[in-house]
Amino acid sequence: MSKIAKCTHCGDNMGIIRVDKYNRPHGAALIAIGFLFLIALPVEAILSLVLLPFGIVVFFSKKEVWCCPSCSSIAEMAHKKLN
Ligand SMILES: [Zn+2]
Repeated sequence: MSKIAKCTHCGDNMGIIRVDKYNRPHGAALIAIGFLFLIALPVEAILSLVLLPFGIVVFFSKKEVWCCPSCSSIAEMAHKKLN
């Protein structure tokens, strides 16, 4: 896979940076709700088994995108397979 891309705005060579894949506050909220269920509602604690891992994935997932050093425009990488 090519590690070189041209900026569509200014034609400069773009570099790769890592950014948050999902909305971090959403991940933090899921983790907080998961803990709340775990502590406050023993019956619903089973829900936290779903919410906590999901929240952690949302919170910590990163993706690589192209970033132009000249004009700071960001471009999604073209992935051959979805993940
Ligand atoms: Zn550019």
